Amino acid sequence: MSADADAVLIVNVEVNGAVVDLRIESAVVVAVGAGLDRSGAPVIVDGHGGALINGLHDHHMHVMALAAALQSVPVGPPQVMDAQAFASVLRQAALLPQGQSGLGWIRAVGYHESVAGPLDRLVLDALVETVPLRVQHRSGAQWVLNSAGLALVDVDTLPANGVEHDDAGIPTGRLTGIDHVLRWRWSTTRNRMYAGDGPDVAAVGRLLASYGVTGITDATPYASTDDYIALVEAQRRGHLRQRLTVMGAPHLTPSQLAPLRSGPAKIMMADHDLPSFDEMVALVRQARNHGRTVAVHCVSRVALVVALAVLEDVGVMPGDRIEHGALVDQASVTQMAAMGVCVVTQPNFVAERGDRYRVEVEARDLDDLYRCGGLLSAGVAVAGSTDAPFGHPDPWRAISAAVERRTIHGQVLGEGEAVTPLRALQLFQGAPDAPGEPITAIVAGQAADLCLLGVPLAEALQAPMAGNVRATFIAGDLVFGG
Ligand SMILES: [Zn+2]
Repeated sequence: MSADADAVLIVNVEVNGAVVDLRIESAVVVAVGAGLDRSGAPVIVDGHGGALINGLHDHHMHVMALAAALQSVPVGPPQVMDAQAFASVLRQAALLPQGQSGLGWIRAVGYHESVAGPLDRLVLDALVETVPLRVQHRSGAQWVLNSAGLALVDVDTLPANGVEHDDAGIPTGRLTGIDHVLRWRWSTTRNRMYAGDGPDVAAVGRLLASYGVTGITDATPYASTDDYIALVEAQRRGHLRQRLTVMGAPHLTPSQLAPLRSGPAKIMMADHDLPSFDEMVALVRQARNHGRTVAVHCVSRVALVVALAVLEDVGVMPGDRIEHGALVDQASVTQMAAMGVCVVTQPNFVAERGDRYRVEVEARDLDDLYRCGGLLSAGVAVAGSTDAPFGHPDPWRAISAAVERRTIHGQVLGEGEAVTPLRALQLFQGAPDAPGEPITAIVAGQAADLCLLGVPLAEALQAPMAGNVRATFIAGDLVFGG
């Protein structure tokens, strides 16, 4: 081996089932084998027999929203369960020095009606009067602002279709479906988004590295390249080292999205506002004109039926995917297997939201929620993701949930959809453009995006958890642990 200043030798690690050494040079794995030459004074990491696996890829999450959420107050289950706790966390947040949560706002996230009923401006004013407050619904679809917040976003100049008014014509505080406008209103100028008082993307990079995550797909349906400024900056500065693939809306071309790597175009099928068949066809065609695959957000059975009919009509492209697939019946399973459409699921929702689903979802639907094992055995490609910050960003929790299918209160949901721990891990080991095809072996010549566990793989899979991650390498650089 030649001397290489940036070479890394990882010794005594379990790779592909055998304890060996692995050498990295210039961001690439160059050798895997027993007793590798230690010359060239490379950095040496001793794995003590722990497993070295391909780094995890979270196939559907939202970087900027996660960055903001890390600076936010959670006001939904499981942290906040009732009206009293809701009032108390918000009042406490209002006592903190302004600026603590960013731009003087209290940003509360994860709200659900089960906590304190429907919210409006008056309910929030009674809790927090002078500090601008915004509360995001758990679905991510709606914000409710107090009066101070409404004044700050200049509510009268917001798109009318997103602002709810009462009978007297006064805004209720509920703003729906206008995040693309609000994103800029939360702060006054675009630059402030990345001037240190906006969301801290570096914190996201560090957190994900601690989970062994080396790649992510941002699933936000951004409509403008301006929306990507903060992500481009974060990558350029090395604040977000993970390999990043972005979706964005179907009208964005790969060259417009450059220097970011473009993934499938995101097509929303919101249940409150389902697009028509023809509108959907037009959106998929738009993506195709730019050579892009599509990722269609489908939560209900009907949305999925329409999405699959549209894809049948336009023609499937390898890499097309269904996001969430929260409810999938057997006819759709058969159809997806035949079409070669991949489902990108969030097993963590079974754990995080399962208790609520058991109350709210019709009994006949419970076994069809966030299916996984049943899809795989029918030949449908499935990939895993967390949908952070709408789900917990730790993929190991999702891996564990895919195995256990157990809610926080210990109930099992869709037992037949459980998968083995190894298969659950592999949900997070597909490439971004082929998420349902896990890459399990580590071979010379591949990128050195690796996750070192403190124990052998079989032991780690007995109780999958982020605590087993000892070190994370991206492009050969140690970005976590050591
Ligand atoms: Zn999402």
